[in-house]
Amino acid sequence: MDIVRRARAMKEASAAARAQGKIVGFVPTMGALHEGHLSLVRRVKAQADLTVVSIFVNPTQFGPGEDFGRYPRDLPHDADVLAREGVDILFAPEPDEMYPPGAATFVEVAGLSDKLEGKSRPGHFRGVATVVTKLFEIVAPHVAAFGQKDAQQTIVIKTLVRDLLLNVEVLVLPTKREEDGVAMSSRNAFLTSDARRAARAIPRALEAARAALEAGERDAGRILDAAKAVIGGEPLLRIDYVELVDPERLDPVAKAQGDMLLAVAVFAGKTRLIDNIVLRS
Ligand code: AMP
Repeated sequence: MDIVRRARAMKEASAAARAQGKIVGFVPTMGALHEGHLSLVRRVKAQADLTVVSIFVNPTQFGPGEDFGRYPRDLPHDADVLAREGVDILFAPEPDEMYPPGAATFVEVAGLSDKLEGKSRPGHFRGVATVVTKLFEIVAPHVAAFGQKDAQQTIVIKTLVRDLLLNVEVLVLPTKREEDGVAMSSRNAFLTSDARRAARAIPRALEAARAALEAGERDAGRILDAAKAVIGGEPLLRIDYVELVDPERLDPVAKAQGDMLLAVAVFAGKTRLIDNIVLRS
């Protein structure tokens, strides 16, 4: 596996592969890799001739007071893991490579970016949309994979691909969970053992909402109450939001109908976790 630190070198490697008719597959990450990331890598690798994974902890998607400084970073370990997976290129740029001094250009997906995560983390999706646009420009993938774990992010990215006329196929792949149901996340490493145990209530809350729906409940407020009650039963958990929204515009629904996204953000101790499931009635 080649480790590429420079955007120009990455562009050249991708252009050379494309010139030979190779399919370039891409998985953007922030590192601290787990099986969720690797499920994306394996899926892309099955379709691609050149598999590129990026590791870049993107400063512009973190707000003031968030965990940018202490986000887990272990490039040598991640590089070993990716080499074992048969990844061809690990693209790991420094911040000043992605944001040249004076960088003043940002990508904003209006509207969508202000809901759910965007409401709690102003500017987050501007950072995400900007870095993904840059990464797509540098890596020039035919296909790129993202996790349903970050459901809103997948919608923001599909929208920017459509709006900016980018030639990238966006794959959205299922959330990988630990055996106890907790969604895999690099941030799980921050959890104390008590908070990690409490976090089990998050997937249970999602399932409680599903059970309410399946029992015939159609009132969104009461479906949400079923989820909130489970989370509320854990003193170490604090709800940021629990919302039932339509899966395209992410607007709250009052009555359960068709496909819906149940999305939650919960503090477990000091660590903010997100999770979601798609519901159908
Ligand atoms: P991150 O490193 O957290 O920015 O995540 C990189 C990619 O991996 C994103 O597309 C995430 O949605 C995806 N991802 C993160 N956690 C999981 C998971 N538990 N299952 C599947 N994909 C995931």
